[in-house]
Amino acid sequence: MYDYDLLVVGSANADLVIGVERRPGPGETVLGSDLAVHPGGKGGNQAVAAARLGARTALLARVGDDAHGRLLLDAQRAAGVDTAGVLRGGAPTGVALITVDPSGDNSIVVSPGANARLSPRDVRDAADLLRSARVVSAQLEIPLETVAEVVRTTAPGTRFVLNPSPPVELPAGILAACDPLILNEHEARVVLEGPAGDGRTDGERTGGGPVGDGRTGGGPVGDDPREWARALLALGPRSVVITLGARGALVADGVTTELVEPVRVRAVDTTGAGDAFTAALAWRLGTGAGLADAARYAARVGAAAVTREGAQASFPTAAEVAALGG
Ligand code: ATP
Repeated sequence: MYDYDLLVVGSANADLVIGVERRPGPGETVLGSDLAVHPGGKGGNQAVAAARLGARTALLARVGDDAHGRLLLDAQRAAGVDTAGVLRGGAPTGVALITVDPSGDNSIVVSPGANARLSPRDVRDAADLLRSARVVSAQLEIPLETVAEVVRTTAPGTRFVLNPSPPVELPAGILAACDPLILNEHEARVVLEGPAGDGRTDGERTGGGPVGDGRTGGGPVGDDPREWARALLALGPRSVVITLGARGALVADGVTTELVEPVRVRAVDTTGAGDAFTAALAWRLGTGAGLADAARYAARVGAAAVTREGAQASFPTAAEVAALGG
């Protein structure tokens, strides 16, 4: 019997947002709006998204012993997340300093702070928590060696889900554990092509180039998500989900590949859609849903999230998802 449907291991950040008429250039000072502070970080977002849907959710993360840390913990608890696994201290809470201009373009500086101090030892110390969850999900805003320790510590019967964001080339030991590896188009390119993967324009890409030589960062790929899914599966994960924004998602498990249609909504703000989708998918897989069915539900959750402003503030309840046809 598991205590939690989902344990999220990942980052928690305070997003500090100032609206500006024009983002400052080097050496320049500009005046901006009042400061807005929002709870964020991919780990924190995914935990809140799952809990709001009704999943029994816990978070393993590290925040500073400071006001931002308290704010993040309050946001998690208000959503119903069990925060007993959230460690305090070692560095200030992670923050993202965001300036956004009237066109919506932004500049972001991230200080990982305590997120960078979530260590393999912290994971080993939380072994009981890891073994009490049906599904464990992670992202990469914490050290890669910490994620590797999560893979080693997770019980054999527990499902492991990884969203490699921000994307890096991934070691085989982590890839082999993913069921699924869930990533957007940008992340898929970096995992497949290496760090240069997103540095080129479409016109410069070698469409139809060699795909799937069986190693991460192996070289240029074309523009067909089905090809990416095949190439990603060749790297070792048991299944792959590629999110395609307003075009839906592609799921592949080596036997079947299926395009999950998007739910048509009027998008207001896509921030956090990927986190909402990932959390919903991970939770549904733990309830026994197949990959495509879980992705269809997650697509409704992602669609609901884009109809509202913000990240955690935009995540729907199960009743709101049902109203979208879920
Ligand atoms: P973000 O980084 O903004 O959180 P992402 O790039 O990781 O997002 P997306 O692929 O944009 O993730 O979105 C995740 C899922 O949410 C999509 O697969 C889709 O099902 C749903 N979704 C996103 N945008 C829309 C949209 N405009 N309309 C309907 N569904 C959407």
